[in-house]
Amino acid sequence: MRIINIKPIFKEVIWGGSRLKTDFGYDIPSDHTGECWAVSAHPDGECRVAGGEYDGMLLSELWNEHRELFGNYPSDRFPLLTKIIDANGDLSIQVHPDDSYAAVNENGSLGKMECWYILDCVENATIIIGHNAKTKEELEDMVRNDRWSELIREVPIKKGDFFQIDPGTVHAIKAGTLILETQQSSDITYRLYDYGRLQNGKPRPLHIDKSLDVIEVPFVERKAYETEESGWMRKLYSCKYYTVWKADLNGEEILKNEYPFMIVSVIEGSAEIDGTEYKKGDHFIIAAGTGDITFKGNAEFIMSAPAIA
Ligand code: ZN
Repeated sequence: MRIINIKPIFKEVIWGGSRLKTDFGYDIPSDHTGECWAVSAHPDGECRVAGGEYDGMLLSELWNEHRELFGNYPSDRFPLLTKIIDANGDLSIQVHPDDSYAAVNENGSLGKMECWYILDCVENATIIIGHNAKTKEELEDMVRNDRWSELIREVPIKKGDFFQIDPGTVHAIKAGTLILETQQSSDITYRLYDYGRLQNGKPRPLHIDKSLDVIEVPFVERKAYETEESGWMRKLYSCKYYTVWKADLNGEEILKNEYPFMIVSVIEGSAEIDGTEYKKGDHFIIAAGTGDITFKGNAEFIMSAPAIA
């Protein structure tokens, strides 16, 4: 098996919209659909294989029973998760723990390192990334005394921007933003601030103490790589969990798969890949040991691979 096609699942949330249907053509449950879990083996949203020898199998089962497809990658669970997020409203401002904090405080969960590729956004869009406190004491004072406008760091964004979000980074997407997220397979989020909003007459719970435990002070920006790569694949970022690329296909290219596995998302256009047609919104995994894979067509992709120890 060379390519494993994955069937996405969808999450309805108060801040979600309908662009997963209008932009990506997915059959979504409502026009409050915020998240497409495109490649996930996380218990909070497990994807299944679509077609082929393992049709209908959960990705977690495939991981457990056919680890050879993933280069016998040494992890007790499928380590990555790819999502597309449609924010029709502002998301709460949040922060994630790292592996060691999550292992102790969240029942053995992984921590959450993540990164965002901006697929599209409205004019004058911004995101929240980082904060302006210089010390832990200043951070705590700003949080406990509602000095949010001083604390929160908001930056303008445009289509094609990329952001690496280490554990401990304060972050949030704002209304009118469509992103592709590559992350560790984790669902642990601490809500720091929710703009004072009410849901059914009540504020949603915050996790102030855990947030203060994990927020990195001072904030240090992680820059996307400059366009150092030649060819059709541009490396956006590498960290200890993943490498992420943006790829632009115009014609024919060969992908040399040198990783235990790769996750590929078609974010624009269509292409014939290893003899099969794919289009915008399709997601698949390239299995271990496939060697060269031929891509033909006009399309854009976000690709990721697990870090190799
Ligand atoms: Zn996050």
